[in-house]
Amino acid sequence: MSEKFNVPSELPRYPRSMWRTVTTLPTFPELRGDLKVDAAIVGAGIAGVTTAYLLSLEGYKVALIDAGRILDGTTGYTTAKISAQHGLIYSEFLTNFRPEIAKGYYEANTEALRFIRETVETHGIDCDFKEETAYLYTTQEDKLDELRKEFEAYQELGIPGQWHDSLAIPVDAKGAISMPGQAQFNPLKYLKFLVEKIVENGGLIYENTTIEDTKYGKPIELYTLDQENTVFCNELVVASHYPFWNKAAGYFSRLSTERSYALAVKPETSFQGGMYLSIDDAKRSIRSATFEGEEVLIIGGENHRTGKSDNTFEHYVELEKFAGTTFGVREIPFRWSAQDVTTLDKIPYIGPFSSDYPFTFIATGFNKWGMTNGTVAGLLLRDNILRRSNPYMDLFNPGRFNDKSMNQNITTTFKMAKELISGKFAGAHEKIDNLEPDQGALVRHGGKKVGAYRDPKGELHIVDTTCTHMGCETAWNEAERSWDCPCHGSRFSYTGEVLEGPAKEPLERIQE
Ligand SMILES: Cc1cc2nc3c(=O)[nH]c(=O)nc-3n(C[C@H](O)[C@H](O)[C@H](O)COP(=O)(O)OP(=O)(O)OC[C@H]3O[C@@H](n4cnc5c(N)ncnc54)[C@H](O)[C@@H]3O)c2cc1C
Repeated sequence: MSEKFNVPSELPRYPRSMWRTVTTLPTFPELRGDLKVDAAIVGAGIAGVTTAYLLSLEGYKVALIDAGRILDGTTGYTTAKISAQHGLIYSEFLTNFRPEIAKGYYEANTEALRFIRETVETHGIDCDFKEETAYLYTTQEDKLDELRKEFEAYQELGIPGQWHDSLAIPVDAKGAISMPGQAQFNPLKYLKFLVEKIVENGGLIYENTTIEDTKYGKPIELYTLDQENTVFCNELVVASHYPFWNKAAGYFSRLSTERSYALAVKPETSFQGGMYLSIDDAKRSIRSATFEGEEVLIIGGENHRTGKSDNTFEHYVELEKFAGTTFGVREIPFRWSAQDVTTLDKIPYIGPFSSDYPFTFIATGFNKWGMTNGTVAGLLLRDNILRRSNPYMDLFNPGRFNDKSMNQNITTTFKMAKELISGKFAGAHEKIDNLEPDQGALVRHGGKKVGAYRDPKGELHIVDTTCTHMGCETAWNEAERSWDCPCHGSRFSYTGEVLEGPAKEPLERIQE
């Protein structure tokens, strides 16, 4: 790739999601008092909203409950390609599983895409839904064999796709696979319509209501964080991204979280259309969207485990360089980052929470493909709850086990234990007095290692960096000004409030 354009360094100072900026969402009250419903859905992202919508259409009295604002979790910070082309997944699945599993995964995701398309068309939802061809490509000669293997998997499984030796966009592709008939949209405009329908169908929605614990019985009882309110329900759906609740199912050792980054860029050159994902060492995702009547490109990539990056700002800079050299950059109106959850075998866990809890269901582990997998979750959980058969129940059943999963389970548990121990001994090299405005770090203070951030006005915010979930050490994320936990992905603001679970309690604040 040649350096054709100047690479500006004009990243926005603060992260902001384009979808949340351009979409006005309704607001809902906090839960005050007790409540009795047929089904309680915890978590208002794409999985929870789709499930609540589908159950409300079936006449269920639903309550959709979110710890923060609706659609302000990962769904509000996605890149929103609606596609069954999920990287090198089909060759990997064919190596690890029977072909029916790989084929079933493709079909379930294709049905989810069809469901979104039909919902948009039937109701005329204005959400910038646009059909596009998806391309998987590499610019590295040494990755061509992996890409060819993926293409062979398409052929073996009967997945429509074509091989290309080059691409229309200005990347030096050595090879590419196209998958026709995929799509992109503004996910929040689409989900806003579903939210409005839930309310029209008599559903209840609560914001700023964290569910802390549950008591299993008939009905199931859900308790809010302050223990002041109880929700009684016959069916419970855990759609809180990372499960807020872990009883008897070991999810915390079966899931990992990874962050990735996105920029919305006004390019200097016109874009040839399509949605792109590279399999290069530095993965890149590209799609177009419209902002203020103008075409922008959403450039994504730069994955790393949550809490495991020395300088999170550098990831934005790398994307900015790529956008600059490939398309030219006139302006970068938005930058944002988010994290997603992956299961041991990369197939989401959608279905019964565990055999001990037959009226509780879970949807998690979408492996950065939650637009389709989150929609699969809604369709599948509706059928689970209605006790209807569905061809994909076994495929996504969280209770499935295979040897590979078991081995990875042990590795994940081991990594977490290592994290718990190594975090405690990590050095605090910065001196609190040396912190510049808008700088955060681990520091020594009063003989203890603590986390400190000096805000732009010069005020210090000091916290105990021990994660309130399971005691791991959180790490400073300078690009988002947050404390992030490498064990299970909990995140906290610089003042200690929970930004993302599974933690529910804030970090302890320390006086200066
Ligand atoms: C940068 C990035 C780009 C992506 N791009 C794509 C893409 O192009 N295509 C694609 O298909 N997928 C993509 N994904 C993945 C997709 O965005 C996610 O898989 C999906 O949004 C997850 O949805 P969710 O409903 O599971 O979770 P979320 O949207 O995170 O919703 C979970 C909700 O649960 C709430 N909650 C948590 N704990 C509690 C509690 N105790 N009580 C009450 N509420 C609680 C949270 O507040 C949150 O609102 C991307 C992911 C990332 C990180």
